[in-house]
Amino acid sequence: MAERVYFDWNATAPLRPEAARAMQEALALPGNPSSIHAEGRAARSLIESARENVAHLVGARAADVIFTSSGTEANALALTPAIETATEKRPRDKLLMSAIEHASVRAGGRFPRAAIEDIAVDADGRVKLAALADALSRTSRPLVSIMLANNETGIVQPIAEVAALTHTANGLLHVDAVQAAGRMACDMTALGADLLTLSAHKIGGAKGVGALIRASEVIHFADPLIRGGGQERGLRAGTENVAGIAAFGAAAAAAHAQFAAEAAHMLALRTELEEGLRAITPQAVIFGAAGAAGERLPNTTLFAVEGVKAETAIIALDLEGVAVSSGAACSSGKVQPSHVLAAMGVSPQLTRGAIRLSLGPSTAKTDVERFLNAWRKLSSALSKRSRERHGIAA
Ligand code: PLP
Repeated sequence: MAERVYFDWNATAPLRPEAARAMQEALALPGNPSSIHAEGRAARSLIESARENVAHLVGARAADVIFTSSGTEANALALTPAIETATEKRPRDKLLMSAIEHASVRAGGRFPRAAIEDIAVDADGRVKLAALADALSRTSRPLVSIMLANNETGIVQPIAEVAALTHTANGLLHVDAVQAAGRMACDMTALGADLLTLSAHKIGGAKGVGALIRASEVIHFADPLIRGGGQERGLRAGTENVAGIAAFGAAAAAAHAQFAAEAAHMLALRTELEEGLRAITPQAVIFGAAGAAGERLPNTTLFAVEGVKAETAIIALDLEGVAVSSGAACSSGKVQPSHVLAAMGVSPQLTRGAIRLSLGPSTAKTDVERFLNAWRKLSSALSKRSRERHGIAA
């Protein structure tokens, strides 16, 4: 069997070799990082150096990194009314979020439904700043949660503008940067984020590790999700996943060191891929492609062709050895209609055909060629079938 090609990096990225090595070394350590003996201190030291590396990736201080079990848990920890700052101890009165957030943000954390308000996006998939400003004017101590880049489309949000509006309205800004980190500039200070979520497995770390990062330690959670042994400064109890965290640190260091080269590599291949796609199926709609450079992650292409069902295409491509996904990766294995495309006003017919290709640093030119060959075969079979259905001779 020919080697498979993997175009589903937004669902999860393969483990980086540096992360695999760090994980193996950590697994060999017997100590609990909370123990004071040498074994414990060795485990602690791995966690603290990973904390430095993860902080460095987003321009934060190590002391402000809280390790969690996933990006999902980091989002759940962040979204609470009980966030205190040096000057404001009263609960947040509203959670404002865009309509295109990941399900783990859409769930709203510990905010009651009635306190959550959606902010619409425009047809280009960007949050409507006027709608945000209007919603902010009706709050007194809001928490705003807007993602940096969307997992389905790769479209990048105007976070600096969102931060300015939020701060003027006495609000705090949480940014889900799970898909953005390592793929675009992601400096917390430049973004103006007060809280930022990362997930290890999207940057080449292991699955099941994440982090919530605070802009400063004056941002305090009065009601941590998991209480117990006081780990992570009392904000996330439970013996740390030492191996997972060590791998996260190694992946963050590699992603930071190789950022410019990896982003350029992915963008060059993505350009080739989209040019090929358009040459084979000129009617293909590539979502977010009309925006300027930098308004979409360099590794993501979400496209649809009227009349082609995503399930059919994904299965056919899989049989050709090419792994792609529909817009949203979903835990049940079923293709759900995309709430992201619906929020952008895309028709349900076109939404049903949305196919996502996401690339990574080790994607090769030959992988793109393999996809294009498989796509050529698939689209000519589908158009032959459609001609036959309509009684048109080939
Ligand atoms: N946020 C975004 C934008 C995501 O794409 C994902 C995962 O796909 C998550 C959060 C959740 O991260 P995790 O898989 O670590 O729970």
